Amino acid sequence: MDFTLSGEQRQIRDTVAEFVDEEVVPRAAEIDETDEFPADLIDEMAELGLMGMPFPVEYEGAGLDYHSYAIGLAEISRGSGGLGTVVAAHTSLAGNMLYEFGDESQKEAYLTALNTGEDIGAFALSEAEAGSDVPAMSTAAERDGDGYLVNGGKLWISNGSVADTVTLFAKTDPDAGRKGISSFVVRPEEDDGFVVEGTEDKLGDKGCPTAELRFDDMWIPEDRRLGEEGEGFVQALKTLNGGRITIAARSVGIARAALDEAKSYAQEREQFGGPIADFQAIQHKLADMDTKARAAELLMHEAADLKIRDEDYIKEAAQAKLYASEISREVANEGIQIHGGYGYTKDFPAERFYRDAKLSEIYEGTSEVLRNTIAQQLLDE
Ligand SMILES: Cc1cc2nc3c(=O)[nH]c(=O)nc-3n(C[C@H](O)[C@H](O)[C@H](O)COP(=O)(O)OP(=O)(O)OC[C@H]3O[C@@H](n4cnc5c(N)ncnc54)[C@H](O)[C@@H]3O)c2cc1C
Repeated sequence: MDFTLSGEQRQIRDTVAEFVDEEVVPRAAEIDETDEFPADLIDEMAELGLMGMPFPVEYEGAGLDYHSYAIGLAEISRGSGGLGTVVAAHTSLAGNMLYEFGDESQKEAYLTALNTGEDIGAFALSEAEAGSDVPAMSTAAERDGDGYLVNGGKLWISNGSVADTVTLFAKTDPDAGRKGISSFVVRPEEDDGFVVEGTEDKLGDKGCPTAELRFDDMWIPEDRRLGEEGEGFVQALKTLNGGRITIAARSVGIARAALDEAKSYAQEREQFGGPIADFQAIQHKLADMDTKARAAELLMHEAADLKIRDEDYIKEAAQAKLYASEISREVANEGIQIHGGYGYTKDFPAERFYRDAKLSEIYEGTSEVLRNTIAQQLLDE
C-alpha cells in the first residue's frame, strides 16, 4: 500500500492551495457575510481547470484521477465551505450525470460547457416531501409528442438559481416506484416553465445558493433524457456514491481549516503568562483534531482508490462521508473551544467552520441514512 502522493497529485494540491490562500481565504468572510455567489472566483477556478477536474480532456475536463479531484476539493473547501459545495454539486453531481449516463451528443453539448466553467451545473433530486425517501418524489414528466411535459417542484438545489444545466429527476411512470424515475437535462434559459421560487437563508454554506425550483408545464425534448426511462433512481444512487467521496473531501478541508486556525491561535493567545498551546489540555485537543482529520483523509482516499479501480465502493464512500462529516463538525467545535469567547464571535472564522461543517452531515445522505447503507452492506457481505 503506497500512501505517497504522486508528483502530479502534489502539484494539484500545491496549485489549488496557492490559489485558495491568495484568492479565496481573503474573501471567505465576505462571502459568508453577503451570501453572494462568487462568480468571479468561479471564473478564476475555471481558468485553472477546477470546474471539471475528474473528466477527460476530450470534454475539456482536467483529466485528473479521483484522488487529485478530492485533494482539490478539500483545498477549495478549506478556503470556503460554500465554494466547496458549488464545485461538488457542479462536478460530482451534474457533471457526473452527463459523463456517466449521457450519450456522446449530450456530453459534447452540456458536459463540455460545464467543464470549461462556461456553464454551471445543478442536480435536482430532492423535494419537499421526498428527501431521504427519494422514490416518494412527485415531480412528473409525462410523454408529450416527441418530448415530455414536466410539472412539479424541487427543494434544496445547490446552484439551482444560477445553473445553466440542471440534471432533473422526475417520474415517467408514477405507479412504478423507484423504477418509474427518469432523468433529464434541463436548460433554465431555454425551457419555458422553469421557475426559481427563491433561495434558502441557511446556517452556513454561504455563497452557494440553495434554491427551490418549480416546473409549470415545462416541455423538454426527448433527446434531453439521460439513458432510458426508469433508470433515474439507479443513476442517482451511483452518482451520489461518487459524490460522497467529495463531501468527505469538503469535510476534510473544513476540518483542516479549523485545525490550522486553532493551532495558530493557541500559539499566540497568552493566559497565565504563556501561550495557551503550552497547556496539555489544549495540546490534546489539537492532537485529536489532527488525528481525526488524518483518519478521515485516509478513508476518503481509500474510497477514491476503489472507485478508480472500478471496484464496489458503496460502503467505503458512505463510511468516508459519514466519518469525515462528523469529525469535521467535532474538530470545528473544538476549534471554537480553543478560541474561548472569541471563538463564539464573528471576529474569528472558527464559528464559520462549525456552521459549514454541519451541512455535510445532512446532504448527499444524512448520517442516519448512511449508517443504514453501511449496515446493509455489512450484513450482505
Ligand atoms: C444546503 C443543502 C444543499 C442541498 N443540496 C442538494 C442538491 O443539490 N440536490 C438535491 O437533490 N438535494 C440537495 N439537498 C437535499 C438533501 O440531500 C436532503 O436535505 C437530505 O437528503 C435529507 O432529506 P430531508 O431534508 O427531507 O430530511 P428527511 O429525509 O425528512 O430526514 C429527517 C430526519 O429523519 C432521518 N431519517 C429519514 N429517513 C430515515 C431512515 N430511513 N432511517 C433513519 N433515519 C431517517 C434523517 O436522517 C433526518 O435526521 C440539500 C440540502 C441542504 C440542506
